[in-house]
Amino acid sequence: MGNLDITRDPGQRIREILKDFSGMEEIGSLIDGGIVVGGGEELTLTDPATGKPFATFRDADQSVIDAAMEAAAQAQRQWMQLTASARGRVMTEISRKIREHAADIAEIESRSAGRPIRDIRGEVIRVAEMFEYYAGWCDKLHGDVIPVPTSHLNYTRHEPVGVVVQITPWNAPLFTGGWQIAPAICAGNAVVIKPSELTPLSTLILGLLCEKGGAPRGLVNVIAGQGVTAGQAAIADRRTGLVVFVGSAQAGALIAATAAQNLVPCILELGGKSANIVFADADMDRATLGAQSAIFGGAGQSCVAGSRLLVHRSVHAEFVERYARASERIPVGNPGLETTQIGPINNLRQWGKISAMVRQGVGEGAHLVTGGSRPAELESSGGFYFAPTILDNVAPDATLSREEVFGPVVGVTPFDTEEEAIALANDNPYGLAGAVWTQNVARAHRIASQVRAGTFWINGYKTISVMSPFGGFGKSGYGRSSGREALLAYTQTKSIWVETAAEPAVTFGYSAG
Ligand code: NAD
Repeated sequence: MGNLDITRDPGQRIREILKDFSGMEEIGSLIDGGIVVGGGEELTLTDPATGKPFATFRDADQSVIDAAMEAAAQAQRQWMQLTASARGRVMTEISRKIREHAADIAEIESRSAGRPIRDIRGEVIRVAEMFEYYAGWCDKLHGDVIPVPTSHLNYTRHEPVGVVVQITPWNAPLFTGGWQIAPAICAGNAVVIKPSELTPLSTLILGLLCEKGGAPRGLVNVIAGQGVTAGQAAIADRRTGLVVFVGSAQAGALIAATAAQNLVPCILELGGKSANIVFADADMDRATLGAQSAIFGGAGQSCVAGSRLLVHRSVHAEFVERYARASERIPVGNPGLETTQIGPINNLRQWGKISAMVRQGVGEGAHLVTGGSRPAELESSGGFYFAPTILDNVAPDATLSREEVFGPVVGVTPFDTEEEAIALANDNPYGLAGAVWTQNVARAHRIASQVRAGTFWINGYKTISVMSPFGGFGKSGYGRSSGREALLAYTQTKSIWVETAAEPAVTFGYSAG
């Protein structure tokens, strides 16, 4: 497919793409099928590859949220008037539209969020597959007939919750948007989704494509706005039936508190500090590659990043040496170039946080093996680049072992026994993911069953699928938002009792036993 034309001003190119999709160059919220410009504070979008602003938009104010919630509530009723099979056909068509516009979607995501184009092209197809997968579920989501011990026919229905409010982060906005929207509408709901104020554009396009695929206007509304203003207003709205949040643990706690005030359930997909365990009998080539993709893929801005690398002491020195040399060869650069494997950090604030955490790691006694700053050859770009960074001999109680960096920074800690590796892996409040590299099948399964994490890989890292449940243990959140499990989370179960006896007994207490 080749490079993007990175000599062109991203603002100009993004306005062209937006105009093609929405008829408008201006950035606003997608409400009831149209773009509505907010009345709040002016917000700026910055190109992570150059550090230069490329567009502005106004935060969504209360009237935008009201309009979005109302449009969603009405569209949801229309959506449920279609047969389940017809809803499935619409979802298949949305998937087809995503494939048809894949090149533009990939470009907007790459240029506005700083994601390497070679990753994004594949991710757009994964997003199309999410809608295909859930299209197939639309007419298979049905209840049970329960053999109750009375004369009743008792059956269940999985009914939509109504309007789902979704709030997503900046690291993979398109992928996360598809991951959340597809199961929500499959289960018969409407969506008000608020992507990060730093990266609203690809979700906006996804919302427009849902309508082009035949979804009723207002079924998917996209809010261009901030969390503390627009996000909180949507969660607190009386029409909200479920809140799905993907983001940091700190914001998750605030969001869950507002949802609790509104008596609305939450699914929380939060951060992680995942352990990647390498035993001496591992296939070292594959483990080295796996440990790179685990933390350096997406420039480490990945919730499942393998940021704690636990290596058996007998191979520790050799492994770190080989890992460091291989990591220094990973191409870091402009995300629009096909050769780039590591693009910039999404924003300057995050770049500063990463840099400070590396300094703190060294201050707390870790040895900086490689990286630690912006690569010298990218210094003049103005972009928020950060070199793949390895710190060795990171103590289990050091900040780097305990707190999420959300950047291309891995801390290595040696271990001596299997028990110690498991204890180290579990010595953290998060529990999102983890992995083990070993040729010993029995040990691999022992470890997989004992590490406290929602996703675990044996001799691999970072494979996820919309077909498989994904979510956290511990402080990484609760609820699952993919696979079959998401459908139950996105519905509420109703139990219906039908009297079938010719002469039913009338009782004044509970009668089924
Ligand atoms: P963040 O929590 O700062 O923001 C995420 C979203 O929440 C944004 O849309 C933001 O506007 C909104 N928000 C922030 N504060 C809010 C508030 N008080 N009320 C309502 N909304 C609010 O996270 P981020 O910096 O954008 O993303 C990085 C974090 O996301 C990391 O911790 C990462 O691990 C996590 N993440 C988790 C998953 C997962 O599936 N578990 C996936 C991707 C990212």
